[in-house]
Amino acid sequence: MGDTLLKIGICGGTFDPIHTGHLAVAELVRCEYGLDRVLFIPSGMPPHKSLEDVTAPVHRLNMVKCAVGSNSSFEAMAIEIERSGYTYTVDTLKELHRRYPEGTEFNYIIGADVLLDLLTWRNAREVFKLTDFIAVMRPGFSDEAFNKRLAELKREYEINIRSFEIPLLDISSTFIRDRIKAGKSVKYLVKEEVEEYIIKNKLYQQ
Ligand code: ATP
Ligand code: MG
Repeated sequence: MGDTLLKIGICGGTFDPIHTGHLAVAELVRCEYGLDRVLFIPSGMPPHKSLEDVTAPVHRLNMVKCAVGSNSSFEAMAIEIERSGYTYTVDTLKELHRRYPEGTEFNYIIGADVLLDLLTWRNAREVFKLTDFIAVMRPGFSDEAFNKRLAELKREYEINIRSFEIPLLDISSTFIRDRIKAGKSVKYLVKEEVEEYIIKNKLYQQ
């Protein structure tokens, strides 16, 4: 028997809706780092977005379920939307530590936008003790800013963070929502099951 400690990847986000960028990043990272599972955790209602701006949590969760169904290493987790109001990552991580065996390794997967924002997270220093991070680039961000922040986080915050180079994927949920609003196709930008769910529930049309 080899190393039996679990390696878990965490993908947190609004997932409004989940798109192929999210899925491709998670799968590339999972393979690169030999993760046993990747948990997709849709957020509750984010404090910085007003209620009308964000689709109901149940729809966002259902779309994540549709999207991850075909990958046995992926899992949709309702942990944040089951609680009332917004859940902070620090609380989610504490709950995950309770649910998983001692010694489980957590790797929070983040894009460049989130990397640059990381120090604004509630109880950031505590978060950094509860999970490692894997950061990937996103279009629209400079390598310079990305690498500078990465070095700063390692140096000054003792955060265990790695970066992983992926083919840049210029897809965002905002782009998907805008296309649907304009009556344009989002085929191949989201999984077919997600597209069907969006159509059936008339999401993002106005
Ligand atoms: P929105 O446009 O609504 O902000 P989004 O596409 O940024 O949506 P989120 O749910 O906000 O999606 O992002 C969740 C996580 O996935 C974040 O860490 C974000 O950086 C990452 N992410 C999303 N899209 C990509 C992408 N194309 N490449 C790399 N990382 C991504
Ligand atoms: Mg975003």
